[in-house]
Amino acid sequence: NDASTVFDLVILGGGSGGYAAALRAAQLGLDVALIEKNKLGGTCLHNGCIPTKALLHAGEIADQARESEEFGVKATFEGIDIAGVHKYKDGVVAGLYKGLQGLVASRKVTYVEGEGRLSSPTSIEVNGQRYEGRHILLATGSVPKSLPGLEIDGNRIISSDHALVMDRVPQSAIILGGGVIGVEFASAWKSFGTDVTIVEGLPHLVPAEDENSSKLLERAFRKRGIGFSLGSFFEKAEYTDGGVKVSLANGKTYEAEVLLVAIGRGPVSQGLGYEEAGVAIDRGFVVADEYCRTNVPTISAVGDLIPTLQLAHVGFAEGILVAERLAGLSPVPVDYDGVPRVTYCHPEVASVGVSEERAKELYGADKVVTLKYNLAGNGRSRILKTAGEIKLVQVRDGAVVGVHMVGDRIGEQVGEAQLIYNWEALPAEVAQLIHAHPTQNEALGEAHLALAGKPLHS
Ligand code: FAD
Repeated sequence: NDASTVFDLVILGGGSGGYAAALRAAQLGLDVALIEKNKLGGTCLHNGCIPTKALLHAGEIADQARESEEFGVKATFEGIDIAGVHKYKDGVVAGLYKGLQGLVASRKVTYVEGEGRLSSPTSIEVNGQRYEGRHILLATGSVPKSLPGLEIDGNRIISSDHALVMDRVPQSAIILGGGVIGVEFASAWKSFGTDVTIVEGLPHLVPAEDENSSKLLERAFRKRGIGFSLGSFFEKAEYTDGGVKVSLANGKTYEAEVLLVAIGRGPVSQGLGYEEAGVAIDRGFVVADEYCRTNVPTISAVGDLIPTLQLAHVGFAEGILVAERLAGLSPVPVDYDGVPRVTYCHPEVASVGVSEERAKELYGADKVVTLKYNLAGNGRSRILKTAGEIKLVQVRDGAVVGVHMVGDRIGEQVGEAQLIYNWEALPAEVAQLIHAHPTQNEALGEAHLALAGKPLHS
């Protein structure tokens, strides 16, 4: 293929959404061009999911070293060698990056490096050449947002991109935003020895989660010595001699070496020819229907660029959906409530389905039954010395519509929770399954035994 070919599909952006669409479309026999200005793999691989989890894992090892005596092991924690942490993290990313590059090449996707621009509803211009496609997929993702008057300088006022490559462990940090990204950095930095304070405008940390999970996380963070100021609005940030001073609308002030701005990510949709080609945009997001079709018949859009959940696996699912639709298959739209969500801090927060509050709105307050299973009754959790809970939200006499979990490593249990939710399993059916002892997975089984009226260890 070369630039004069008309491809079946030309994709702008090689992140989770774009590359998943490319791989699946190529697998289905479509001729695909994938255009990426930076690195194949996008935010998730290079600035998001993977490097943050490597930092969190390094932090977990530091905590284990500090707490080793509790387990009868003699070890001394001597500190963090941040260069070593980066080497480990970068090694993980590099290995996955190489694998992904190999995959794209082996599927015969035409990979083009360069900054692209939509030049018509059926073409993208890059490096002075036009790539024509019967279909176009926009997958340009998102970048960190800031607030008016709050300039991210990359040194003292930073975004997650900077935090991931910082060559020092800050002594103290203020984190603006108690959502997923904010709490993950709070957790990793605390494990590294930083004095951390989170400022969140809403009344809870991880406010998108069931309130019970938020409260459990707040309790665990408080115990770890992570500070937070909830329901507090940011007013201004000023430089001080040693760092930054943050003033809140309620009159409180905090000072720290760095301020991490983690208030969310905004779509990359400006200056790329989208509007000129007639693509509808709403508050920066490309507008797309449940099949990821924009209002322009030849153009689809996926991932963080459209206003669905900003998660890598949502990007994958949407990319696959578009590839299958264009190949003439009949994929079903993504059920966004059925998407598993994991926040990887210490302890982890994981969920699928709807919160108790949302279930009451959907089904009526009198129809909603909840059950909490405390991990104190779970052998494996005791061994790991983690506190936490599994909360089930059920529609009376019916299926479980929400599973909400908090505890170290509990994110690994979200797979079964997802099957329970998506297959609309009844508690009695789940209770019938034998869960291995002693696993944390067993806690999910025990919670369903209790909900089915035959609790074993609770
Ligand atoms: P992106 O991954 O942002 O990819 C878009 C790509 O388009 C980029 O590579 C960019 O260079 C390219 N591009 C943009 N404009 C152009 C142009 N004009 N020409 C060519 N190329 C262009 N999600 C999870 O599911 N789990 C997690 O644990 C998780 N952790 C995260 C942690 C952090 C710190 C962050 C920031 C995000 C995290 N996410 C996580 C979210 C996840 O990274 C995103 O949801 C996902 O990357 C979105 O994929 P995307 O393809 O839409 O966009």
